[in-house]
Amino acid sequence: MAAAFITFEGIDGSGKSTQLRMLASELRLRGINVIVTREPGGTSLGARLRAALLDTEEQVDPLAELLLYAADRAQHVRQLVRPAIETGHVVLSDRYADATVAYQGAGRGFPPALIDEVIALATGGLMPDLTLLFDLPVAESLARHKRRADEGDARDRLDAEDEAFHARVRNAYLQIAAADPDRVRVIDATRSIEETHARVLELVMPLIESRGQRSEVSPKSNV
Ligand code: ADP
Repeated sequence: MAAAFITFEGIDGSGKSTQLRMLASELRLRGINVIVTREPGGTSLGARLRAALLDTEEQVDPLAELLLYAADRAQHVRQLVRPAIETGHVVLSDRYADATVAYQGAGRGFPPALIDEVIALATGGLMPDLTLLFDLPVAESLARHKRRADEGDARDRLDAEDEAFHARVRNAYLQIAAADPDRVRVIDATRSIEETHARVLELVMPLIESRGQRSEVSPKSNV
């Protein structure tokens, strides 16, 4: 059993999803049971909440937004994350509770005590074993994100936020990492995809190995 809960955080365009996919493939090559998920949208209810939350046409009130993310998380933790951990899976989630601190707390301005309470309620106290924070300057993330949009990805409501919003979010993430350095590891996301992947493996493998499932074969990734 190599159960572990690892979350991927960072501003949009920081490369989290790319790195999550690469890590999942690498772990599967090593024979580890991996579940890949995301917030919002990791469950079927969550997918419907995600559609509403990211819809550019929808005027989502900030309090409603906070509570919808919490509802998504409550469903996610109870239906998917906890059961997966209990059955020995490594769960990789693209965003989790820290995103609420960064986006709804620092981004939208809800008071920290309220944010903490909502998170505690939704998670039931389940926090990740390890959080990888992909950090890069806002201008760089916007440029990457724009390239992705030019390649045909739809824009969402958060894309419409200004640079100051994303800067507050980035700083909040860095503060979370500074306050909880054992759990949250900051990764320099300005480096190449391959270099970043190597760093991710350096941080993740000791945790997985400490959970008792050493890799029997360790083929080099060819992603
Ligand atoms: P996120 O999930 O954080 O929004 P993505 O993984 O979707 O970010 O990456 C956003 C865009 O940046 C994609 O087009 C991706 O191919 C590109 N990208 C990801 N990592 C890097 C990197 N290290 N260097 C340059 N471009 C990158």
